Amino acid sequence: MSEHKEFLLSVVVPVYNESAGLLEFHKSLLKQIEKVAKNGYEIIYCDDGSSDETAKIVRELHKDNPKIKLIRLSRNFGKESALSAGIHAATGDAILMIDGDGQYPVELIPDFIAKWQTGSDVVVGIRSSNKGEGWFKKIGSHYFYKLFNRLTGEKLIPRSTDFRLIDRNVQEAFITLGETDRMTRVLIDWLGFSRSFIDFEANARSSGPAGYNRRKLVKLATHSFVSMTPVPLFLFGYLGVFITAGALLLGGSVLIEQILLDDPWHWKFTGTAMIGILLLFLVGIVLMAQGMLSLYISHIHSQAKQRPLYVIDYENSAGIRKV
Ligand code: UDP
Ligand code: MG
Repeated sequence: MSEHKEFLLSVVVPVYNESAGLLEFHKSLLKQIEKVAKNGYEIIYCDDGSSDETAKIVRELHKDNPKIKLIRLSRNFGKESALSAGIHAATGDAILMIDGDGQYPVELIPDFIAKWQTGSDVVVGIRSSNKGEGWFKKIGSHYFYKLFNRLTGEKLIPRSTDFRLIDRNVQEAFITLGETDRMTRVLIDWLGFSRSFIDFEANARSSGPAGYNRRKLVKLATHSFVSMTPVPLFLFGYLGVFITAGALLLGGSVLIEQILLDDPWHWKFTGTAMIGILLLFLVGIVLMAQGMLSLYISHIHSQAKQRPLYVIDYENSAGIRKV
């Protein structure tokens, strides 16, 4: 890690229909940024296809101060895509991501910079609480992290947020990731690099309802699973093995007890029951076949994602990267 006495800071802000609170947010952000990045900064607002005045407001800001930039997506792609667009475009030595709804405390930005300057490539904001968060989000996120870490073997940190700062090296590695259904913080965690953490308490949204409704959150969670692990695919295969084994056991005992021994225990299995067992057996076979298919699909799946096999942090010989 080099000394960052003179550095350019990029701030990436995804915004979707935030016009009501945007100016206020921008003012508080700018105050902090001018404090820490005297030598240069850029603030990139990524407008995620807003239908309100969001883009117009940013255009006005840009007129007065060209360091304030706008990337406007052609439609609403979701926060993750907006964030990625900003990260890809950033030209700074460090890239800070922050939501444009005022929920992340801008006062902590100097702390993020300080941690970066003392050698962390990734500085992650950890939310200690979220005022006004509904039960669905609370319970949902608790179990999401539990299940996610269990199934994928990853170590996502509960309550870690997109309020993050990444070094230019991390950005370069991030750019090589070609996944379409993405969750930015999962990808950044996957990349590795040296990390440190900053705890903070989230503010209530400065205005308007959260752009992420339940349906979107469930979709995001599902995509994160699918992009990180094929295990859900295999579950049906296991279920098939279980059902087939059960059906064989049942069928076998009927065969012996009823047909071979002439029903000594008076089970009196009807023809319908036997057809039931046969059906169960066939369903089991079908599920097992599906599980087998899943194995192949999971190979295609991991190949289709085209993630690089590894990421180079430091390379001396080629001399293409840092220090
Ligand atoms: N956002 C976005 N696209 C969307 C939804 C949200 O760019 O489709 C932005 C939004 O403007 C805000 C940030 O992403 O700056 C976080 O959104 P929100 O506050 O709705 O999510 P939460 O705080 O509940 O995670
Ligand atoms: Mg928010």
